[in-house]
Amino acid sequence: SDSTADLSPADGHRARELDRHILHSWSKHPATNPLAIARASGVRMWDHDGREYLDFSSQLVNTNIGHAHPRVVEAIQRQAAELATVAPATTNLVRGEAAERILSKIDAMAAVFFTNGGADAVENAIRIARVHTGRTKVLSHYRSYHGNTGAAINATGDTRRVGNEFAVGHVHCFGPFLYRSEFWAETPEQEAERALQHARRVIEAEGPSTFAAILVEPVPGTAGILVPPPGYLQGLRELADAHGIVLIIDEVMAGFGRTGEWFAHQHDGVRPDLVTFAKGSNSGYVPVGGVIIAEHILETFRERPIPGGLTYSGHPLAAASIVASIDAMTDEGIIEHAAHLGADVLGPGLRELAERHPIIGEVRGRGCFWALDLVADRDSRRPVDASVVAGLKGALLERGYLPFTADNRIHVVPPLVMSDDDARAGLAILDEVLAAHASAAP
Ligand code: PLP
Repeated sequence: SDSTADLSPADGHRARELDRHILHSWSKHPATNPLAIARASGVRMWDHDGREYLDFSSQLVNTNIGHAHPRVVEAIQRQAAELATVAPATTNLVRGEAAERILSKIDAMAAVFFTNGGADAVENAIRIARVHTGRTKVLSHYRSYHGNTGAAINATGDTRRVGNEFAVGHVHCFGPFLYRSEFWAETPEQEAERALQHARRVIEAEGPSTFAAILVEPVPGTAGILVPPPGYLQGLRELADAHGIVLIIDEVMAGFGRTGEWFAHQHDGVRPDLVTFAKGSNSGYVPVGGVIIAEHILETFRERPIPGGLTYSGHPLAAASIVASIDAMTDEGIIEHAAHLGADVLGPGLRELAERHPIIGEVRGRGCFWALDLVADRDSRRPVDASVVAGLKGALLERGYLPFTADNRIHVVPPLVMSDDDARAGLAILDEVLAAHASAAP
């Protein structure tokens, strides 16, 4: 039940008090997060005082199916009573079913290696590519996020990789971003060509035979929801093929319906060698991730074992939640709904906001995966200061809109199950908050 009658401010007070025992991710200690969330259902969350929020963040862009989906909850409960944990090498039905469900949504892939989340999925994809090729280097984008473990944080292109210099062989390039293109591009086609030429030059200069993998998000998410121009991913595929390099598509954030397809790279018709996933595969009800492996890569492990494994690889609770989640998404048409929300409600609604609010420099995205790139000045495209985003975030929260913000951006990334009416209600709150900001500005 999503009754909130028993939520008590005393629990909220106690939750904040006990929070000092936790060192939070990416935070100073003690943290100052204003939210104390007690409960959630569908697209709504309630804090301990009973205040309601519409979730336009999907938390860390992972609760694709919404909160407390009854089929997923029931599957986890049933599995917990039956068999909660079993050693990773054991054959177990629900494990096989989880892999089978995943493979049914993607063409021409042969097996799944399960992990505990996204970073270790990336870690193992890089390892598989290195074992398969006998090479070391990985090319990835500066504008990217791939996780916060050894190789994954080094593959990440943003400043968070500084200070994590334990992994070797990482090379970066500037992937496509027309709105803030480095060089001469004025059209999407030119930006695709600019970025491909750049990637080609970097690989040639470093030595093509030293590269194990090209690792890219099909739509860089944390870096700003950068939908690639047509032809870019296909161009990377050709570059990889020309030099015997493994193409890893990191679908941790964009996968499982976020963009309105099961996998974001399916919009581009590109064929990956390895695909990493996590978040949306079971909407985070149990931590899980993994690597989907093409047959020709799997061949390598018919001759030698994969040099890696995890105690919780293929965890039964995670597996049960993946099966239930994929079945529910399929039966309820959730992916199709995400595509509809993007095409008919969020996309047009956000573009309309941009017409009224000059602070919005660009609207980009698809499905339930959108970013508002906020600028101090439309001509120079200078990003707004962090304090502006912090102010907007506070105002949205006050009105019951739970936002996702990063740098100078608001990412509009609700669960895929959001109704058209709730999406419109969120757009109206955004409109109100941007208008209040404009009228308060000096
Ligand atoms: N890869 C991508 C594309 C991501 O967006 C993320 C997390 O945001 C990760 C990897 C890391 O996943 P996790 O935080 O589950 O380790």
